[in-house]
Amino acid sequence: MEVWQEQLQSALKNPKDIESFFGVEFPEVPYPILIPRNFAKEIFSQGPDSALWKQFLPTDYEIDQKGEVDPLFDQMNKATGQLIHRYENRVLFMPTTRCPIICRYCFRKNELYDNSLDLFDTEYEKVVHYLKDNSSVNEIIFSGGDPLMLSDQKIKSYLESFAQIESIKNIRFHTRFPVILPQRLSENFIETLKIFESHFENIVIVIHLNHPEEVTPEFKKVINKIHKYSKVQLLSQSVLLKNINDNEDTLYKLFTQLNQLNIRPYYLHHPDNAKGAQHYKLTIEEGYLIYNKLRKRLSGWQLPQYVKEGPKGQGKAPVFVNLPQEKL
Ligand SMILES: *Cc1c(COP(=O)(O)O)cnc(C)c1O
Ligand code: SF4
Repeated sequence: MEVWQEQLQSALKNPKDIESFFGVEFPEVPYPILIPRNFAKEIFSQGPDSALWKQFLPTDYEIDQKGEVDPLFDQMNKATGQLIHRYENRVLFMPTTRCPIICRYCFRKNELYDNSLDLFDTEYEKVVHYLKDNSSVNEIIFSGGDPLMLSDQKIKSYLESFAQIESIKNIRFHTRFPVILPQRLSENFIETLKIFESHFENIVIVIHLNHPEEVTPEFKKVINKIHKYSKVQLLSQSVLLKNINDNEDTLYKLFTQLNQLNIRPYYLHHPDNAKGAQHYKLTIEEGYLIYNKLRKRLSGWQLPQYVKEGPKGQGKAPVFVNLPQEKL
């Protein structure tokens, strides 16, 4: 077993684990709990008012029944059990429902670990058939859950099979691992991706992180390693979260640090209307005001696009609010 796999096995997994680790009481919530111990140490050292604590430790607010179970209408856009095909040229491929941590604000929190939705357990052959029949698809986005939950061997075998489909030119991974368990991006993993650098036009990793507290020395180290040994492109995506990163200075610092590490900020997501995550929501006007201030301080390429999901599963669109001049 690799170090990161051991870390996941020994992770904090239930209310009792987190109470004894953090030494405080937490409410019972109807969603799973998962925090690897090394990362729990980081959260503990930042304290209860920190952005880390507020992102990963449960609160009473999660019991709220308002909001939607499937805010992105993923079920409507299902191509097969493992593929979501919403846009002509690209598909989300979801080979796992598991993640290295459970984020309390997750918009998929009602789907993760819920096998009754039958999201993920169709056979892989259907995926290959679908891709061969739909040659407009040129990009596979490994998503989930978190695709880096798969072993290197498994990732390699998927990439081998996608490399044989002529229309597939680009490969992308959406992951939170570089922040939560940076050891996962091992030399062997980087080597695995490198094998495919000549098969695909682009291999891209989109890192999910939301706050400068997540830019730890271990995170920086692994980013530098990826840049040094591969041509993999690094992008970031963040969710705008109330009382966590919903202010100009925090986001300015985050995007500046990412650019310093040669990670291009890609998307800033407006929070979705997910059940159990209502307390992280802010209005579109509030978000747009913050974003507009950032536009004055960061160049176009240093700034992510601020996007929001359409109300009926149409997909992401840039946020624009026509505010009176004196407000901007
Ligand atoms: C977000 C998303 C994508 C990726 O969209 P990009 O704009 O290319 O990042 C693809 N498919 C689905 C279903 C999505 O929700
Ligand atoms: S890593 Fe992503 S999919 Fe997993 S719990 Fe966090 S937000 Fe949800």
